Amino acid sequence: MERSEGGKVWLVGAGPGDPQLVTLKAKRLMEEAEVVLFDRLLSSEVLGWAAEGAEMIDVGKLPGRHKLSQEEINDLLVEKAREGKRVVRLKGGDPFVFGRGGEEGLALAAAGIPFEVVPGVTSAISVPAGAGIPVTHRGVATAFTVVTGHEEPGKDDELDWEALARVGGTLVVLMGVSRLADNVSALLRGGRSPKTPAALIEKGWSPEERLVVASLGDIVERAKEEDVESPAILVVGDVVGLSERLRPPTIAILRPDNRGDESEKVARKMGFRPVLAPSIAFLELPLPCDLPERIKRADCVVFTSATGAEIALRDPGLADLFKGSVLATIGPRTEEALVERGLSVAVVPESYSSRGLALALAPRFKKVLLLRSARGSPELVEILEVAAVEVDEVHLYDIAPSEDPKLDWLIRRGTPDIYAFTSGSTAKNLMERARELGCEEDLRDKLAGATVAAIGPPTKAELERLGVRVDCVPERFTFEGMLEEIRRRR
Ligand code: SAH
Repeated sequence: MERSEGGKVWLVGAGPGDPQLVTLKAKRLMEEAEVVLFDRLLSSEVLGWAAEGAEMIDVGKLPGRHKLSQEEINDLLVEKAREGKRVVRLKGGDPFVFGRGGEEGLALAAAGIPFEVVPGVTSAISVPAGAGIPVTHRGVATAFTVVTGHEEPGKDDELDWEALARVGGTLVVLMGVSRLADNVSALLRGGRSPKTPAALIEKGWSPEERLVVASLGDIVERAKEEDVESPAILVVGDVVGLSERLRPPTIAILRPDNRGDESEKVARKMGFRPVLAPSIAFLELPLPCDLPERIKRADCVVFTSATGAEIALRDPGLADLFKGSVLATIGPRTEEALVERGLSVAVVPESYSSRGLALALAPRFKKVLLLRSARGSPELVEILEVAAVEVDEVHLYDIAPSEDPKLDWLIRRGTPDIYAFTSGSTAKNLMERARELGCEEDLRDKLAGATVAAIGPPTKAELERLGVRVDCVPERFTFEGMLEEIRRRR
């Protein structure tokens, strides 16, 4: 093939998995690339930066073909560059750290193709960092060694693990899962104390990150118990002990998806690492045709959740009607949802609960319209009716068991420090799903070992009914109030 002008290859590092940890240069090159060769495991967001017409080649798995060999990849890079294309060869982490970037560079140099390396954030340092483990720390470790755990035994340049044991400092082992037991025994044989702290970090910088900490003597067994899988990094050394204080506490948030983004933001702002795993799904119900008349008939319209307010206000006709109504909400978050849309709220009870709301409404109104979930607490209606208030009720949404794979992941493999429950139904459905998966006992053990928080007394009561100990209920029954209370306790 004729060699045309302008072809060039960039060997680009894509970082450890979080798209925010990609360099600006890598992002620009992705946007400008005509051909992208990538490995499996790369985030779809990063791949999505490529232009519409760019040729995307998964060298881990070509359609109808097996994985390309290194030689075939080298040849393909040369071939595409010779077509005059701007070629990005995208690799996890840094291209020159166990990434075979050097080999590709040599092949390009031999073929006379211009190329450049664009370093990436290597998992060797960033994955421990994300788990709260600094690879060096004053007074604890003044050196770190990065090795591969996957060397074939009998290879000429086989690593001397017993010598590594004597180097001291922090040892970081990439590709460390498959030969973990052999490598750990070699370190112990070489004289590294079985009491040395060790950690395995699985899928760092992803929502599925897990950290398993043990002593070097116990890490193999703990890895088996926890079923640690690749990609994972083994860290050996006293710096592992710092993770207890440096890693943000992980919090499982079980509320439905429609509140997911907002909860994630609040949790991050407050220093938690959220793991979203909705245990219930949210189902919007059709609005009844006579709703406008029912709104006009009521002397107070009550919203008991921000979700309900958002649904009702999506209808412009209703949003207008509410301007002429006296509005009440159960708490400040629901009030906010109404105020954001230009409405004013006349009643917010002092205690953000169904009971608090009923007591605030009963003396003031005669005809109350409740716009809420089909699973709303009966207590609200009971107290109002006892006080001779006429109650009309419209169900704006219902809940159903979640089919979210993130929930199954949490039940089977998740090990959050905290479980945050925002309703009795999130608790009930979590336990039900665990039973269906045959993991109920396991989950109970995990809950017993974690901090369990309930947003308010009814949620706490439901958890206790399910046999789950509750550690924490806030004074203010809001999601934020719950996280503040957890933070105070830790
Ligand atoms: N060039 C890459 C390393 C490639 S070797 C870099 O600089 O990061 C692949 C190994 O990297 C995996 O077996 C695993 O040990 C480690 N690794 C990469 N990304 C990881 C992640 N997000 N979490 C845990 N380990 C990771």
